Amino acid sequence: MATFKEFRNNVKPNWCPGCGDFSIQAAIQRAAANVGLEPEQLAVVSGIGCSGRISGYINAYGFHGIHGRALPIAQGVKLANRELTVIASGGDGDGFAIGMGHTVHAIRRNLNITYIVMDNQIYGLTKGQTSPRSAEGFKTKSTPEGSIESTLSPLEIAMSAGATFVAQSFSSDLKQLTSLIEQGIKHEGFSLINVFSPCVTFNKINTYDWFKENIVNLEQFPDYDPSNRMLAMNKIMETNSMLTGLIYQNTSRKSYEDLITGFKQEALAKQDVMITSGEFDKL
Ligand code: SF4
Ligand code: MG
Repeated sequence: MATFKEFRNNVKPNWCPGCGDFSIQAAIQRAAANVGLEPEQLAVVSGIGCSGRISGYINAYGFHGIHGRALPIAQGVKLANRELTVIASGGDGDGFAIGMGHTVHAIRRNLNITYIVMDNQIYGLTKGQTSPRSAEGFKTKSTPEGSIESTLSPLEIAMSAGATFVAQSFSSDLKQLTSLIEQGIKHEGFSLINVFSPCVTFNKINTYDWFKENIVNLEQFPDYDPSNRMLAMNKIMETNSMLTGLIYQNTSRKSYEDLITGFKQEALAKQDVMITSGEFDKL
């Protein structure tokens, strides 16, 4: 069985020292090993942004897609090879701005994919502009007088879109994050894991200390029941979306793959042979 070290490759990440994304990479590698995967059983698909580099830093199948399009690619990978465990990842700008249409529909479609958002509440790769996750009043080069737009809550949107697995974590809490990724991989459907991942270079407001002061860990509520949708919505709103832990899980709804009728894996394998032999016209 592969250890987490076998999910490492020899590419050195070029994230800034201290970037939260390092821990997310480590958590994915640990979770993959903990659930018993081999590198060839995992595909990591990413979008564009500092976070998008992650698919190149993990020893597994990888696809670095285009801006906001990690989820369409990830869904295609999963439908083409259902034996693969598919993780999609990207930043808050990638998934909640240009990619938001895909995010909402991937949530309601409920393919068996884990989507990890590296949420630093800013655009890092383009050197610090306001993102949909930035707070009102947040000053950047794109909003020198402070953002006048409301902050988007991915947790509320996911819940209202019919999500079957909603979790949130903090890159500094490697134990919780690893456990949530493991649970997300095992969940038979679409799992959204939003991860607070500080951008130490451009976001001087939402720092590690700021998150530590503002996060509300669900461990504080031992009676919390993640299968209760109304309770989850209430808690998200009560905490201004700063909740961490497994917020909601619905295990009764079948995944998209399980609901497709007439699909046969053998037929897909046969089609693959035909395509590689260049017989498109016979399809
Ligand atoms: Fe991380 Fe920010 Fe540096 Fe990008 S710019 S690598 S998000 S610290
Ligand atoms: Mg970002």
